[in-house]
Amino acid sequence: MKRNFNKHKEFNKWYEDVLQYAKIVDKRYPMKGSYVIMPYGFSALKKMKSIMSKLLDNYGHEEAYFPLLIPEKIFKREKDFLKGFGGETLRATKTFLHELEEELIIRPTSETAMYPMYSLWIRSWRDLPLKIYQTVNVFRWETKMTKELLRVRELVAFNESHTAHATAEEAEEQIREAIMIYKKFFDEMRIPYEIFRTPKWETFAGAQYNYDFFTIMPDGKAIELGSVINLGQKFAKAFDIRFTDKDEKKKYVYQTCYGISEREFGVAIALHGDNKGLRMISNLAPIHVVIVPIIKKNKNNKKLLDYCKKIQKLLEKTKCGKYKAEIKVKIDERELRPGEKYHDWEKRGVPIRLEIGEIEEKNKEIVVVRRDTLKKEKVKEKELKEFIKKTINEIDETIYEEANKWHKKMITKHKTLKDAIKTLQSKGGIVSVRWCGKENCGKKIADKLLGSAIGYKENEKVEGKCVICNEKAEHWMYFGRTY
Ligand SMILES: [Zn+2]
Repeated sequence: MKRNFNKHKEFNKWYEDVLQYAKIVDKRYPMKGSYVIMPYGFSALKKMKSIMSKLLDNYGHEEAYFPLLIPEKIFKREKDFLKGFGGETLRATKTFLHELEEELIIRPTSETAMYPMYSLWIRSWRDLPLKIYQTVNVFRWETKMTKELLRVRELVAFNESHTAHATAEEAEEQIREAIMIYKKFFDEMRIPYEIFRTPKWETFAGAQYNYDFFTIMPDGKAIELGSVINLGQKFAKAFDIRFTDKDEKKKYVYQTCYGISEREFGVAIALHGDNKGLRMISNLAPIHVVIVPIIKKNKNNKKLLDYCKKIQKLLEKTKCGKYKAEIKVKIDERELRPGEKYHDWEKRGVPIRLEIGEIEEKNKEIVVVRRDTLKKEKVKEKELKEFIKKTINEIDETIYEEANKWHKKMITKHKTLKDAIKTLQSKGGIVSVRWCGKENCGKKIADKLLGSAIGYKENEKVEGKCVICNEKAEHWMYFGRTY
């Protein structure tokens, strides 16, 4: 049997090994930076997508679909956006037989696909606010090292929301709502996070300002989880999105957008797993309970298998966990030694394993093994359902608690730049130092740390002086090495 990797010390190997072994992705697809999401992985990803869709639906967003291809002329309308995305955007110019009449762009994100339509749809103040989202694939020609689910060329679960409002205040209000939605989403995903206001020079291309959610991966690097962006009126002006207000005047709308992708699934895998492999939380798990029948060779096992089916029926569709996931039960009848099956499902992160042999069947007492502690317990059949529900809940909580502990440990404040440098070098994470608010100083700190400026928290109090220029500090500024 292959050895397990240490998640924190050998994170890259651990991650690759788990994704492959747990059948989340297959990266043998014959194109660099692309891979296949396998059924087990896709099933969990689908659950993640539906967590987000439900939240957006509940807050008055409507789902739609806009085309993959965007005419080049339209893609180029907003200049900052073009500057920001131009370098990684693919252009389609010909078929095998002929040149296209008009060059087409494969969406790297959908502002320029949606907003020409917004300009047609929005006529009056009565059409506002408009809150639309879609979950689609987008393509970005990454030149940096790609990594399955975390940094990829084709995002397949890109969930982007785009809203339009009559006033700047309403757009601000939408930003607050979006932040709340994302908080709920990451809580449901059991991913600890920090919210930062992005410094001006790192702001989304074409935006007024944005907030980013960040967490820290097991290797100590920070990773952006999602962005909430106030676009102001720049796109409205570039795409002529105007409405007649109550005072009969024509006005440009104010816009916001926010997005997440399968990256969050990759982060959940990384944060929730342990050295033995994956650990699925209840609202992402494709399978919650696996039953391993202890089959005797050359014997009639029908009675045993029937009993396993009875147990499956007993548990299936019971609601479990804080977010009321429906329990899915699988009976593993493969012709393998039980030990191999145990190892297999442990690595794939199924929360509960039941071992049922002749004795268990006879005594109506089942061996229950939980994935987090691997503790074995015998449980009477009539107590099984409640026991499983309770245990799955406990497993969720343990996983979340461990992730939170790690997160808290990895965010540190420092009096001196030297201290921050030392910490970032030795253990990584996100470090913060006092900063005057000037771009120049922010960039200098980032350079010295060999990291990037992640952002600051608007309401966080700070006293003292900037670690670079010694002028009065405006914020605690956060830095890290990022994905
Ligand atoms: Zn300064």
